[in-house]
Amino acid sequence: HAKESGRGRYAFFDARIEARNRRLVSIKQGLRQAEARGELSLVYQPEVDPLTGEVRIYEALMRWNSAELGPVSPAEFIPVAEESDLIVDLTRWLIERVATESCTEPLRSSNISINLSPRQFRSESWLSMVRDRIDDRKLDPARLCIEVTESALVENFDLASEQLREIKQLGIEVAIDDFGTGYSSLAYLKRLPIDYLKIDRSFVADIHQDADDRTIVETVIVMAHAMGLKVVAEGAETEQQVDFLREQGCDLIQGYYYARPLPLSALDRDLANS
Ligand code: C2E
Ligand code: MG
Ligand code: MG
Ligand code: MG
Repeated sequence: HAKESGRGRYAFFDARIEARNRRLVSIKQGLRQAEARGELSLVYQPEVDPLTGEVRIYEALMRWNSAELGPVSPAEFIPVAEESDLIVDLTRWLIERVATESCTEPLRSSNISINLSPRQFRSESWLSMVRDRIDDRKLDPARLCIEVTESALVENFDLASEQLREIKQLGIEVAIDDFGTGYSSLAYLKRLPIDYLKIDRSFVADIHQDADDRTIVETVIVMAHAMGLKVVAEGAETEQQVDFLREQGCDLIQGYYYARPLPLSALDRDLANS
C-alpha cells in the first residue's frame, strides 16, 4: 500500500518536473527570437521624494511579451538567460534601449536605474557596453544608477568591490536592491562604495500590522543615514505606508501608491513635474 502511494507520488513529481523543463526550454527558445520579433520592451517605475513629490529616479524594468507564452516575468526569464549567452544579448538590448529612451521626456529630467543580476554583474561585459554609450554621449553616467542585490556583492566580495570602484570612477551610482533579504550586514556593506539601500518590499508590506517590520525599517533608515547612504523603500501601496516612511525620513519611495511600472508613452508627465 505504502509502495503504491510512493510510486504515485513519483509519477506526480515526474509530471511536474517535466512540465517545468518544457517551460524552461520554451523560454530559452522564445528568448532567442524575442528581440528580433520586437517582443522586448521596457517599463519605468518612479522613485519619488516623499517631501516634494518629485521623481528622482525612474527604474527601468524589462518586459517580455512572448507570442507563444504570453507575458513572462523577468524574475523567470532573466535566470534562464543567465545560463547561456542570451544574457549578453539581453543586456546589450537593455543598455541600448535605456540610452535611447533616457533622453526623452519625462525621463530626461530624472535619473535612471537599471537592474543587473548577480552573474551579469560579475561578468563585466555590461560595463564595456555602458562605457561605449558614455563615450559617445548617449548615456550620462551622472544620471545612471546600477541596482544589484546583496548576494551579487557578498558571493565574491573582492571582485565586486573592484567592479564597484570602476563604476564609481565613471560617476555611476550604485543601489543595493532587495536589501534585508540577503545575509549581509550594513557593517559589511560599509566597506563598499554604495549610494542607496533599497529596502525590500517584504518589510514595507506589513508596516501597519507588524511592529517588528516597523522596527526593521526604522533601524535600517537610521543606520543607513549614519553611514551616509540614502534609502529607497520598495513596494509602498498605501497612504499609511507612505506616511510612515516619510516620517521615518526615508529619502525615496517606490510603489503602486505613486505609480506602477509603465511604458515610456504612458508615463505621467505631471508626476514628473510636480
Ligand atoms: P526589483 O528590481 O526588486 O523590482 C521591483 C519589482 O517589484 C518589480 O517587479 C515591480 O513591478 C514590483 N513592484 C514595485 N512596486 C510594487 C508595489 O507597490 N507592489 C507590488 N506588489 N509590487 C511592486 P518586476 O518588474 O516583475 O521585476 C521583478 C524583478 O525582476 C526585479 O525586482 C528585478 O530583480 C528583475 N528585473 C526586472 N527587470 C530586469 C532587467 O532588466 N535586468 C535584470 N537583470 N533584472 C531585471
Ligand atoms: Mg530593482
Ligand atoms: Mg528591488
Ligand atoms: Mg524586491
